[in-house]
Amino acid sequence: MVSKPILTIVVPCYNEEEVLPETVFRLSDVLESLIADELVAPNSTVLFVDDGSKDATWSLIEQFHDANPFVTGLKLAKNAGHQSALLAGLLKAKSYSDCVVSIDADLQDDTAVIREFLVKFHEGFDIVYGIRQDRSADTFFKRATAQGFYKLMTSLGVKIHYNHADFRLMSKRTLDNLEKFQEVNLFLRGLVPLLGFPSTQVYYDRKERFAGESKYPLRKMLAFAFDGITSFSVTPIRFVTVMGFLLFALSVVAALYAILGKLLGANVTGWTSLVLSVWFIGGVQLLALGLIGEYIGKIYKEVKQRPLFVIEKELTEHAEILESVP
Ligand code: UDP
Ligand code: MG
Repeated sequence: MVSKPILTIVVPCYNEEEVLPETVFRLSDVLESLIADELVAPNSTVLFVDDGSKDATWSLIEQFHDANPFVTGLKLAKNAGHQSALLAGLLKAKSYSDCVVSIDADLQDDTAVIREFLVKFHEGFDIVYGIRQDRSADTFFKRATAQGFYKLMTSLGVKIHYNHADFRLMSKRTLDNLEKFQEVNLFLRGLVPLLGFPSTQVYYDRKERFAGESKYPLRKMLAFAFDGITSFSVTPIRFVTVMGFLLFALSVVAALYAILGKLLGANVTGWTSLVLSVWFIGGVQLLALGLIGEYIGKIYKEVKQRPLFVIEKELTEHAEILESVP
């Protein structure tokens, strides 16, 4: 274990010009105090990953980079999405860091907790998960859907930390192993627990966004949840198979009933039931096909192995701090 690890704090940013100055201020503050207390090396930095923002985010990062020795940046050529932007930052940072903390740009996660992450890292933990214990700052809808999602994931057998988003510390060796996963359908908070290194949790209160609006509208949130479920579990597709089987059994019973009615000379008036069952079975079949298509789509994306992000520019050199390192 290195006594003063080089820490990089990775911050994915998408149109975050409103909140960025405050984020830079607070994270620099955190780094300064960690360096002063010798918990991290003096050449620790913050890496802002601009995920193809359309506002002034990148030019702000450039300005801060010039003025503040802690600020480094990575600019993706186009919007790759939160998970891919985060991965881009993690993989870049691991090449020159001993540990990496990921945090959102909007300051919803408590920056003071980063110190606790480091304390745990010094105790020998490779992964430290930040767990939200109070989400009262989130809307009722967000809390309810998030809770439903965690429950569903757990019941599908996916090992996922309840109320943990992507606020965590990871050591270099865990990131080296994360890199091997090569998944295109990226759901980091499901992948990280699969690594299995010594890990622990730190609790904190989730705050409101400091400024700006959520970059995760309902549409993106649902897509993210759906990705999480279908990337980690084949239970939904199995459920469809079971349902198909049950329906088949039911239709055999119905067929027997109809044949019996015919033999007994009962009047077959069954237009309603006929139409209903055609619709019902048609619906179920479409559902099943859709779900299968969903998985095939995922396989299709995986086999192409397209890169998840394209890096356009990099501001990771700070000559003056690198020189100051013995
Ligand atoms: N983000 C990103 N790319 C995107 C969408 C979001 O890098 O396409 C970043 C965003 O700037 C923020 C983090 O991901 O730092 C989480 O987004 P947000 O806070 O808007 O999500 P919420 O907390 O509302 O779920
Ligand atoms: Mg947020």
